[in-house]
Amino acid sequence: MRYYYPDYFNRFTCVGGMECPDSCCHIWQITVDKKTLKKYRKVQGALGRRMREKIDQKTGNIEPHGDENRCEFLNDDNLCDIVLELGEDYLCHTCHTHPRHEEVYYNVRERSLAITCPIACKELLMREEPVVIESDEDNKKDRFDMYFDAPLFRQLLYVRDGMLALAQRRDIYIFKRMSLLLGMAHDIERRIRKRQARSRVFPLHHEFTSVEKDEIKRIVYTYSDVSAYSHMARHIIPEDISVKKAVTDMFFALCTMEPLKDTWIPYIQSIINIRMQMEEEEYTNCQKEFKEEITDIQLEQLLFYFVYLYCCSATYDRMLLAKIKMAVANTIIIRELWFMKWLEDDRVLTEDAQAEMAHWFVREVENSDENLEQWDSLMQRNPRFSLNLLIKVLECI
Ligand code: SF4
Repeated sequence: MRYYYPDYFNRFTCVGGMECPDSCCHIWQITVDKKTLKKYRKVQGALGRRMREKIDQKTGNIEPHGDENRCEFLNDDNLCDIVLELGEDYLCHTCHTHPRHEEVYYNVRERSLAITCPIACKELLMREEPVVIESDEDNKKDRFDMYFDAPLFRQLLYVRDGMLALAQRRDIYIFKRMSLLLGMAHDIERRIRKRQARSRVFPLHHEFTSVEKDEIKRIVYTYSDVSAYSHMARHIIPEDISVKKAVTDMFFALCTMEPLKDTWIPYIQSIINIRMQMEEEEYTNCQKEFKEEITDIQLEQLLFYFVYLYCCSATYDRMLLAKIKMAVANTIIIRELWFMKWLEDDRVLTEDAQAEMAHWFVREVENSDENLEQWDSLMQRNPRFSLNLLIKVLECI
């Protein structure tokens, strides 16, 4: 088995308690794994009784409760009663590993540190040096899965290396890097579709031909050079767009998803209202001022995080462009949430506020499988996220 993970993955420590500004132990429904549930059945005393009463003994589900949808075992000091009484070894798999996330591919595990955790998010945003993806190997093996498209996965790993390297090209303006990533994803997805057309004749997932592999290599190489940008720009339909309106439309799209926190939709609606009342000129002038508040490096860290997370998931649906659109749109939206927060707080944007906005948005999208699916399908079909429009926004932002 091969394991990939960002270089900071093993350094994370949960601060927990009152030091954490937005504990992960609320809103979610936690499911205790079977092995831990067995252990819990043997716990004696008041805690044991509470466990049997509050945890569904068949499913292992712990329903969040109260106005804040808190975990049953999260006490008033925001500490976990199970850890306090029995120690960390008694945590179920989900609580023990969170915010560490593992994406499972045949014989490969991709690990990441979810920025749904405000502390992990802040650490990433404050980091100056480029992130490095490390890897290890051991002798474990998955059972052969004939449905897993291993040749496509291998190509996507190659493509992702190229994309991550491009995301960190600090000699290229960050929004140009994003456009180049979109162009690369668009062209590679076309090659993936061509190979797929061949697969209908041969039902098993067969290898890419050497011509197809060479084409993919050429695309990665071409888009890694900034000169590809002017070539790409020629294909973009020249139309006047308003960045204010285009990003406001993205906020409207967010409102169609199921909110995890009750305050999320009202917050987004209030942002939409403020944006709709702003004159174009006022918006543009404020944006010019705001540019000084954040660094390209912060946007790079977000972009890198999302590309690493989403790119290889195209193995399952071949929609590489939608995955990279998600990475770019997420980064644009977080930047715009920061902008609105900066306006709201009299042109001040603290590091904590940046982490607050970024982790909140990511939680809303990523902590619900339904929302993540919907977000992905919006990228595929909704004109608010068309390639043309996204590249235009990146050009004018
Ligand atoms: S959100 Fe992060 S720091 Fe806070 S309790 Fe969860 S893992 Fe720990």
